[in-house]
Amino acid sequence: LACLVERFVAENDTDSIPEPEKTNDGALKDLDIEGSIDYGPAATGLAGKDFGGMYAVKPLAVIRPAGADDVARVIRYVLQSPTLTVAARGNGHSINGQAMAHNGLIIDMKSMGDNNRIDVNVTSMYADVGGGALWADVLKRCVSDYGLAPKSWTDYLDLTVGGTLSNAGVSGQAFRYGPQTSTVTELEVVTGNGEKTVCSNSQNSELFFSVLGGLGQFGIITRARVLLQPAPDMVRWIRVVYSEFDEFTRDAELLVMSQESFNYVEGFVFVNSSNPVNGWPSVPLDSNQSFDPTHLPKSAGPVLYCLEVALHYSNHDKPSTVNTVVEKLLGKLKFIENLRFEIDLNYMNFLLRVKHVEQAARATGIWDAPHPWLNMFVSKRDMSAFNRIVFQNILKDGVNGPILTYPLLHSKWDNRSSVVLPQGEIFYLVALLRFSHPHPKEFEIKQMVAQNQKIIQTCNDNGFDFKLYLPHYKSTVEWKKHFEDQWGRFVERKSKFDPKAILAPGQNLFTRNH
Ligand code: FAD
Repeated sequence: LACLVERFVAENDTDSIPEPEKTNDGALKDLDIEGSIDYGPAATGLAGKDFGGMYAVKPLAVIRPAGADDVARVIRYVLQSPTLTVAARGNGHSINGQAMAHNGLIIDMKSMGDNNRIDVNVTSMYADVGGGALWADVLKRCVSDYGLAPKSWTDYLDLTVGGTLSNAGVSGQAFRYGPQTSTVTELEVVTGNGEKTVCSNSQNSELFFSVLGGLGQFGIITRARVLLQPAPDMVRWIRVVYSEFDEFTRDAELLVMSQESFNYVEGFVFVNSSNPVNGWPSVPLDSNQSFDPTHLPKSAGPVLYCLEVALHYSNHDKPSTVNTVVEKLLGKLKFIENLRFEIDLNYMNFLLRVKHVEQAARATGIWDAPHPWLNMFVSKRDMSAFNRIVFQNILKDGVNGPILTYPLLHSKWDNRSSVVLPQGEIFYLVALLRFSHPHPKEFEIKQMVAQNQKIIQTCNDNGFDFKLYLPHYKSTVEWKKHFEDQWGRFVERKSKFDPKAILAPGQNLFTRNH
């Protein structure tokens, strides 16, 4: 794997990025900040890696800012250098080096200390949260101390507020509230011009919408105002199984389009086999439940589909009332009888459900191994063909991890943000969350990457309307194609808020200029 990393690095040391001036330890000593600067191999090594585990790009130094003013000082310093670049690093959970900066400065947003605090305003139902705060900490503070919670989440919460807002932030609540970018009303941003600015829908709105889904290209989010709502006490978490893709999508779309629905709607594809990771055993929610394949119809194909829903309720609700609501909602659906699994758990444990997966994966070593993940949004128009060609064919043996797919609604996203989506009201998230062995061979990772590329190629060849989510491209030509008619707006925003292109070079979007 070492060779793999070396080669990936070599491939990605794009010649278009000019070599920064050669500097030694302490070279930034005229950078006057309240926080600290770390040149040590431990810090720079860590900041040169990410969850994807396929890229290693060493920065010059890691900055631990004391707050937003330090972030502004760093940016102004970088602006004065002819070649330096700077990237905010949230929790480094990108896949393809998006938070890295070759010989540049990495601002470790999690280290903003007291500036990552979570201030809740109960009357106005919002929380002011530091850009480097983890969503898991936002959850704990809001629920435990105030009985309130943000509306829209990601599945996994050890991600920073600034990191997910720079992409979108989606999970099973997004069909109702939109992505996380639709649930913030104000941001404090340090732009690529070195200016600390508060922006919102009505104040500096161009900056506000640029930064949301802006891939870190326009500024560094140092604070976000996140809308809250009363948190439920409990959640009933349910999984139901389908053998037919059109029935699965019909039901999923019915739920996301209805006024009366569950509070959370997701879904995933799994393999019609006894494989413990990819197959039937991946469906039950509790160790005392088991998947009985004799309930499957003879017509079932190589893959099956699971609709995953959740209903919030309060400790005061009578069990019979909760059951009535659940049965009424499930009554509209056509899943396979007897392939239904459910558990009740408290709200925090539901939202922290992937943390438990992480703990198990850490114990076996697969959490720290490479993750060649692929995320995309595919138009509803093309999902039936996508199912036939990709799910039932290319992915018929699974990806050694979850294959998520669930519908989202275009109208819940703000077109003024920097995110680009497929056409039409309904589109699907498709997430291939691949895991490997603790010590995968180089060719195994290469095969996974190649399969991702094959899927993208297949979508292009078939003229599917899709966009990569958490996109990764190596050239401006590819980015231009990604943004299509929004490219002009994106470039204009760049020239306004980061004209020297110093920010987030790991996205390979723009080249640092003087
Ligand atoms: P980083 O990887 O550190 O940074 C991402 C990009 O944002 C970089 O370009 C960086 O420079 C920039 N950036 C970071 N902080 C800031 C800031 N404060 N201001 C401006 N730019 C900044 N996504 C979903 O939508 N839904 C999910 O359910 C979901 N689940 C995930 C589960 C796991 C286990 C993992 C690894 C990822 C998941 N993601 C999910 C993807 C995740 O949202 C993105 O990878 C996100 O960027 C990670 O946040 P981070 O804080 O680690 O950001």
